[in-house]
Amino acid sequence: MASPCAICNAPTTSPCPTCESAYYCSIECAEADRPSHVLLCSTYKIVINKPSSSFRRAILFHAEDWDPIFIWVKCSVGSGYDFKHLAEYMGSNDHTNFVTGHINIQRNPLRNRALCDTIEIIYRENTSVDGLEQNQSVVRALRAALSPHIYDWKGPLVAMKNGGLNKDSHVYLDMDMKDLRDTIDYLEVYDRSPLNRGDVTEKVQGVRINCKGDQIICGQDQYVAVNVPREHPVFRSAIPSISHLIEFPVRVYRYKPDQAWKDSKRNGIYRNSPATFLHVETNLTSGLWGRPPELYYPMRAGSILVVRSDGEDMTIHQAEALGHFVQFKMRRMFAGALGFGSVGITSEAVMAYITPANFRKRFAKLRTRRLASGYEEWRNASLPG
Ligand SMILES: [Zn+2]
Ligand SMILES: [Zn+2]
Repeated sequence: MASPCAICNAPTTSPCPTCESAYYCSIECAEADRPSHVLLCSTYKIVINKPSSSFRRAILFHAEDWDPIFIWVKCSVGSGYDFKHLAEYMGSNDHTNFVTGHINIQRNPLRNRALCDTIEIIYRENTSVDGLEQNQSVVRALRAALSPHIYDWKGPLVAMKNGGLNKDSHVYLDMDMKDLRDTIDYLEVYDRSPLNRGDVTEKVQGVRINCKGDQIICGQDQYVAVNVPREHPVFRSAIPSISHLIEFPVRVYRYKPDQAWKDSKRNGIYRNSPATFLHVETNLTSGLWGRPPELYYPMRAGSILVVRSDGEDMTIHQAEALGHFVQFKMRRMFAGALGFGSVGITSEAVMAYITPANFRKRFAKLRTRRLASGYEEWRNASLPG
């Protein structure tokens, strides 16, 4: 049976003689793949013996070391990969102290081909906080591909193959040498192409949370639904840790201040309490625990765009509930633990309160209140899951 050439997609029956895993239609195409192919070709067969049948072959792009390598990641049917096991490769034995991001690849934009399975790239989300260095094995792999343009990937990356195109199927397969080509091509064009979910003009719904200036001077509502193209930079921003802890992970983009109020001396014009308190530091060992980062100090927060990190539409209700949770509930608790206000509470107790259950409770409460006030659009409001 013919397979598509890893480089030009032409049907062919000639595999690489060493790994027998990637197919080429011609010497030229084999040569074109060679610089990155050689990084893993000779080890493809050596690691053919899995630790057990529940392990799947993945590719690890170390943060520090030079060559990407094959690794075996423990997986189970239905629930996907073993996160604790994967965490070791992500540079930490404690999988609770970092947040992972996922990119699902279903298309090779460079070679204009649709993939049959989903390649999932797992990376550390909060790399700017961790201060991780540029990923050296990605640099290596892309230099090998003679790429002049490299997105600054930081920290370790693991590429896995999720069977089929339903990214929630959690049926993992072994990565092969053609998957290496697709992964490297994707890493190469990442910064130049949209998020690679098919149609480049596709949009999802996000919510703009307006600061006082946009509300008072521009007359906008506090929460406004907006259509966001998939290639918008918001989809590459970090996930605030509170939203991760309540299992409603969002991404945030800060809008530039509007000319109409940018230089206004009016007090509190940049104030945006949901934005400020969504970004509060939650790391208990940090001296900044309970405080927002400088960028989101009340006097400079400004308006923000919020989207769901799972790429689904975000409703105004969801954004409003998130805003209420951080602005009215968490803000008081953080202040209490820091010795402001009257609430006497420990920082540990505050952290223990930030749970999906408590967020859902808050959502339900807000819904009841809004319905009682006659806001019928809250009737069908719900959170995902
Ligand atoms: Zn070819
Ligand atoms: Zn080979």
